[in-house]
Amino acid sequence: MLKQNDKNIVVSTLTGVLGSHLTLKGNELAFYCPFCNHHKPKLQVNTETQKWHCWTCNSGGKKLTSLLKKLDVDRKTISIIREIYGDSNYNPQLEDADTKVFISLPKEFISLSETPKGFNPEYKHAMHYLTQRGITEKDIIKYNIGYCKEGLYGQRVIIPSYNSDGSLNYFVSRSYYPDNKMKYKNPPISKNVICFDSQVNWNEPIILCEGVFDAITIKRNAIPLLGKFPSRTLVEKIFMSGITDIIISLDNDAINEALKAAEYFRKQGIHVKMMYLKDKDAADMGYEKFYEELKKTKEFSSEEL
Ligand SMILES: [Zn+2]
Repeated sequence: MLKQNDKNIVVSTLTGVLGSHLTLKGNELAFYCPFCNHHKPKLQVNTETQKWHCWTCNSGGKKLTSLLKKLDVDRKTISIIREIYGDSNYNPQLEDADTKVFISLPKEFISLSETPKGFNPEYKHAMHYLTQRGITEKDIIKYNIGYCKEGLYGQRVIIPSYNSDGSLNYFVSRSYYPDNKMKYKNPPISKNVICFDSQVNWNEPIILCEGVFDAITIKRNAIPLLGKFPSRTLVEKIFMSGITDIIISLDNDAINEALKAAEYFRKQGIHVKMMYLKDKDAADMGYEKFYEELKKTKEFSSEEL
C-alpha cells in the first residue's frame, strides 16, 4: 500500500496533467482520455498496481511513469513518481514495450479536402487562414488537414501527423482567427515522435525545421521538431536509416540548440548544413526563397560554433 502522502503526490500529479477524475472502488481513478478524447472518463488508472487502460481506445500500460511519459510530463516529476513506487529494476525498453497508445483526432474534426455545401463561415475562415499561409489544396490532401468548428479545438485548423504505418502520432491545432490569444493548442501527449514520418523518404537528405507550417512550405522531406531539439525517436531513426545528409533550418531564437544538434550529427559522420534564417522562418519565406537560400549554404563545420 502507498503511504497517504505518496498517494496524494501521485493523484495530484495525475490530476495536474489529466484534469478532474472520478474515484472508483479499489484504488481506481477514472480520467478523461487524452489519446482518444472520449467524452466520458474512460481512462482508468490504478494507483496501487500502476496499471492504466482506456476502455475506449485501448491505450494502456503497466507503469504510471509510462503514462506520464506519453503525456509529455517533465523528467523530474517522472523520477519522483518512479521513486514513490520504488521501481529499482527500471528498464526503459521493457516499459516502452509494455505501453501502447492509440491517438485519435478530435471527434469534431472535419476534413478540408471536401467543400461543404451551403453557407459555412467556419470553413471559409479556415481556408482563408491556410491560403494566407501559402497552404495549397494539394497540401490539404497530402497532410489530411482539417478543422474543428467546436469542442476543445474549436475554430482551429488541425494538422495531423502520421507514423510511417499510417497511424496518427500527433496533431497540431492552430487558431484561424487572428485575435485568438492562444495561437497553438497542442494535445497533452508526448512529442517524442517523428512528425510527418509518413511523408519522409529516409533514403534522401532530411530537413529539420521547427513547426508544421515550415515543413509544409519546404515541401520535400522536412520534419518539424515541434520544439527546439530533435526527439529521441527521431534521432534513433536517423541513425538506423543511415541518413548521410541533414539540413537544419531553425528560427533565430533556437540558434544555440540548432548548433548543438548540428555538431552532434557532424560528429557522427553526417554531412550537415545549417541554414541561418535571420528574421524569417521557412513558412514566411516561401518555397522558392527557401531553396535559393539552401543552395547558398555551405557544409557545417565546428568553426561555426
Ligand atoms: Zn482513450
